[in-house]
Amino acid sequence: MRSPEFADQLNAYPPTGVLVVGAGPSGLSAALSAARNGAQVRVVERFGFVGGNLTAGLVGPCMTSFSLDGRTQLVRGIFDEFVRRMEAEGGAVHPSRVRSGTDFAGFMGFGHERVTPFDPESAKAVALEMLQEAGVELLLHTFVADVVTDGRRIRGVVVANKDGLGYLPADVVVDCTGDGDVAARAGAEVAYGRDGDGAVQPMTLFFRVRNVDDRAVEEYARAHPEDLFPFQSIVERARAEGRFPIPRRGIQLFRTPEPGVWRINTTRVLGRDGTSAADLTAAEIEARGQVRALLEFFRTDVPGLERAELLDTAATIGVRETRRVVGEYTLTLEDLIAGRHFDDVVAVAGYPVDIHSPVSGDGPFDDGIPATANVYEIPFRSLVPRDLDNVLVSGRCLSATHEALAAVRVMPPCFAMGEAAGLAAAWARQDGTTVHDVDVTRLQRRLVEQGAYLGDRLDPALAAGAAAGRGA
Ligand SMILES: Cc1cc2nc3c(=O)[nH]c(=O)nc-3n(C[C@H](O)[C@H](O)[C@H](O)COP(=O)(O)OP(=O)(O)OC[C@H]3O[C@@H](n4cnc5c(N)ncnc54)[C@H](O)[C@@H]3O)c2cc1C
Repeated sequence: MRSPEFADQLNAYPPTGVLVVGAGPSGLSAALSAARNGAQVRVVERFGFVGGNLTAGLVGPCMTSFSLDGRTQLVRGIFDEFVRRMEAEGGAVHPSRVRSGTDFAGFMGFGHERVTPFDPESAKAVALEMLQEAGVELLLHTFVADVVTDGRRIRGVVVANKDGLGYLPADVVVDCTGDGDVAARAGAEVAYGRDGDGAVQPMTLFFRVRNVDDRAVEEYARAHPEDLFPFQSIVERARAEGRFPIPRRGIQLFRTPEPGVWRINTTRVLGRDGTSAADLTAAEIEARGQVRALLEFFRTDVPGLERAELLDTAATIGVRETRRVVGEYTLTLEDLIAGRHFDDVVAVAGYPVDIHSPVSGDGPFDDGIPATANVYEIPFRSLVPRDLDNVLVSGRCLSATHEALAAVRVMPPCFAMGEAAGLAAAWARQDGTTVHDVDVTRLQRRLVEQGAYLGDRLDPALAAGAAAGRGA
């Protein structure tokens, strides 16, 4: 945290009404939601393109946007609009057409009903178009390195880019960095890792391969239902022979919309901190070594991947977990298991708790944690940092326990949270209130009006209210 005098020495950027830091799933959605509701919005993003893990991380498919049983689409609104626009250009398959156990779902059953396969290049282009149509100002290639505060308020952020160090004043900030960089630097209390030892989920560098024999992979997977993870028995045999050093129980692989092209979610780096540049560097080096080893293993051992070639590796290693900003409410595992109702619900989701073990090759889904409810809710208070007055958090850095985060961290709920946080930021700016004082009933009504779904319990009443309020 820096003083106003420090900011005076830096390049000055024009003031911003709503500043969104980070253009991943939650940042894209927050920026669109704020701009479409009248705010002047600027997005600061460290990469030269938008999408966060959707694009830079090569992460995919988008895990389910439906209830756990696959019957009801829960994450709608901006997420659904984004997917349909990608689908219209051949860049995605709508989740309503994708079933668990299939190649698009990585042959996984539990938790993999109605995932969304998509092409990362389509995601980059469509997201950028949507931001530009909404009038969002972009500042790419720019990293937020610090903040200037005034008590519980952020006055602006300190950025580093090709122009040097700069100061960007802002009225309200939505922290969508995944790591809670902004809120943490402003002095908000944060939690890190699981209770007891503070360990976090491992990192994974995604990569894609081409020239895969799609049919052979599918036939093998169908013929081996005993494998919990694809190719598990082959991996176990190779490990016993000392030929598989990666702490993973199988090959997690997902077919993409492009024939012969699959995403590989199988490297695993344990014990590194995603908020440390030194650890991130070490993790990138270790993971890139694992990519080479896996490509060799595919050629010798894995049916359908014998002739696979590396298409690309992600621009960044994927970080599953770092800081969680302590909010007015901390979402818990019990809330998700019980499907607890919150009066201030602003997002609903159905993806189960998915913990990749912080210390071993186990997971996902073999940690003995009971299934979550078919539908669970995320309250607005989990997006409101307890210690700050003009900052909201959204996405991976929301206020949740280690276990609850392991469910809501996937990309569709991050879109849903962003839509709510962006709207709340726009209204806090317009009304001159703190983020703690945003009228949540009005927020819910507007979210429903713009296509979000907040669950059956609230929806009919809200929808009626929204209809009555239209044009007022
Ligand atoms: C290995 C791995 C596998 C996963 N698998 C899946 C999956 O299959 N399906 C699924 O739906 N989800 C999956 N997830 C979860 C999901 O990708 C993330 O939790 C989700 O993308 C979080 O969204 P976000 O918007 O909070 O953050 P991110 O997607 O991380 O976006 C954050 C953005 O902020 C930017 N940023 C960060 N710090 C700064 C800063 N200080 N200044 C400027 N810009 C900054 C980043 O460049 C990035 O663009 C996976 C995650 C990982 C790591």
